Amino acid sequence: SVDKEKSSSVAKIKVVVRKRPLNKKEISKKEEDIITIESHSNSLTVHETKLKVDLTEYLEKHEFVFDAVLDEDVSNDEVYHETVEPIVPAIFQRMKATCFAYGQTGSGKTYTMQPLPLKASQDILRLMHHAYRNQGFQLFVSFFEIYGGKLFDLLNERRKLCMREDGKQQVCIVGLQEFRVSDVDTIRELIVRGNATRSTGTTGANEESSRSHAILQLAIKRIEGAEINKSLLALKECIRALDNDQVHIPFRGSKLTEVLRDSFIGNSRTVMISCISPNSGSCEHTLNTLRYADRVK
Ligand code: ADP
Repeated sequence: SVDKEKSSSVAKIKVVVRKRPLNKKEISKKEEDIITIESHSNSLTVHETKLKVDLTEYLEKHEFVFDAVLDEDVSNDEVYHETVEPIVPAIFQRMKATCFAYGQTGSGKTYTMQPLPLKASQDILRLMHHAYRNQGFQLFVSFFEIYGGKLFDLLNERRKLCMREDGKQQVCIVGLQEFRVSDVDTIRELIVRGNATRSTGTTGANEESSRSHAILQLAIKRIEGAEINKSLLALKECIRALDNDQVHIPFRGSKLTEVLRDSFIGNSRTVMISCISPNSGSCEHTLNTLRYADRVK
């Protein structure tokens, strides 16, 4: 209810922007790189070419500052280090840790997100075997898709799922298959299987892929069955839920924000990665992406 949302504290979101390099096609079309990054000050500038009424060109600069700004030469390992790695330990403290990416098609969401669950599970398994040894933790993986406002289990033949909220503000997806895993290879196989079951491939048409959100969850639980928490990996829509007044967040606006709701309130840590293309042809998309990110931080 609204009251519950009011009384919950809102977790601050760390906002990280990642720029991808120009691709061959953009280079062959002689598109210019219009993004400059100053990583030491976490700032980036978009150099927009505009036309005067007499059709002469002039440059307009737009400067943005974020929690972190990752240039095109930053590796996926460094992205992990900057984004998910710091929030992994929180899940052992009964918190949720969430990372989602959004941005224009082709801006690098898949490239950025795909390695993260594997690296995170590596760290989770390491913590389970060392710092939290003999404490009865087990790791579970689930993977589902939101498509056309409906939920589908990507690890159970696209079975349709429904969600409800239990009395403790915990989101529950009824019938979602969870697989107990104890090694990274099994997780990799599950992710490959789930991706193959998605409504669109990663190279699907813009229209299709922008309506599809895939969420991979890593959950640690104690043997006695007490669920400690889950880790959500999710996409773009939640930004809108957090766009304005941070107290009244319209979580019911979409299935995804409903699903993500308790990742944004109370005991949670969340990272958002905004992926941006460097080429001049993407200037408008890039500015939209950055303006969203600017409002969320
Ligand atoms: P999206 O999922 O946002 O549609 P992709 O992740 O599929 O975009 O990226 C589009 C293309 O750009 C892919 O071929 C991908 O390999 C490449 N790419 C994206 N980000 C990077 C990067 N940081 N470095 C190198 N190549 C990248």
